[in-house]
Amino acid sequence: MVADDTDSENPKAPRNLTGGNDKGGMPLLPPLACIKTPYFHILGYSVAGEETAVQIPELNVVFDIGKCPRPVLTSDFCLLTHGHMDHSGGLAYYLSQRFFQGMCPGTVLCPRPIADAVTAMIEAFGRLEGKAIAHRLIPMSSGDEFELRKGLIVRAFPTCHTVPSLGYTLIDRREKLRPDLAVQQLPGHVLRDMKARGEKITYTLDIPLVSYTGDTTLPETLFHPDVRQARVLISECTFFDPNHRRRATVGKHLHVQDLIEALPQLENELLIITHVSRRTYVNWAEKTLRRAISGSPPKPQIEFLMAHAQKLQVIPGSAADFAPAELPGGEDNGDDTES
Ligand SMILES: [Zn+2]
Ligand SMILES: [Zn+2]
Repeated sequence: MVADDTDSENPKAPRNLTGGNDKGGMPLLPPLACIKTPYFHILGYSVAGEETAVQIPELNVVFDIGKCPRPVLTSDFCLLTHGHMDHSGGLAYYLSQRFFQGMCPGTVLCPRPIADAVTAMIEAFGRLEGKAIAHRLIPMSSGDEFELRKGLIVRAFPTCHTVPSLGYTLIDRREKLRPDLAVQQLPGHVLRDMKARGEKITYTLDIPLVSYTGDTTLPETLFHPDVRQARVLISECTFFDPNHRRRATVGKHLHVQDLIEALPQLENELLIITHVSRRTYVNWAEKTLRRAISGSPPKPQIEFLMAHAQKLQVIPGSAADFAPAELPGGEDNGDDTES
């Protein structure tokens, strides 16, 4: 066994999400992860209790906002699953920065029971800033739908956590010609006439693209049809140590054993695991899961979000590899340090 493996077998090993710290390097923060799927990119950062923000730039959304990593500002919609600080701390900053950067006001969807508290928090920051923070808040309940853009719907599903919470599924909604009409290959003017007479010539086809659980326990979440059938499922799995099942129960989180039990029912193409505990070395967690399911059917493909984090590092006392050798424009005039 090589030295790396010895460390990775130990869940108590110092956490190093950026993939190696043997030279005393420090990760550039935040070490955002990026996963390219056949449909869109998934960008973000997620460590339990610290920060979770997961963005899908092509769909214009960020699930939870963490401490508001810079790239997530570009998404017009923030889908907040619950109020815990590691998921919501950057919300006021997100809204304020969007105004500062000349973007349209951000829209925040949140569980209905926390809407008043979210409003009060945004208003309090507005008083501190001396001006109201432009935003739109959409309280959501389980089953509620909201149109993000034509044909792209978000639908909330129930989750179970220590505070009011919701998960979200993004749905590609299309109007398709009724199959009985499609087989007849009727000309366009005939179909238009039928429509003009008030006949329903289409049906609605919903394709769940991606589901995001936020923090939750198992049964209320992963067995929901939207969640099981989404092409991509982004699920929390906080605990992996066999001794941490009670922690998972008390904190209302998923343990890897819950996930393993749910896997046979999942129809997703890709499962992305987020919110791994700070105590857990992510490579060890990944090996633990892969070992437990070896020999099982290959679907869904499983990836750990933070295993895809960028690996840029700075070595204390040295310039980072990517720093320019010389300052642009020649001599250092001594004015480049920030106050
Ligand atoms: Zn959390
Ligand atoms: Zn939480």
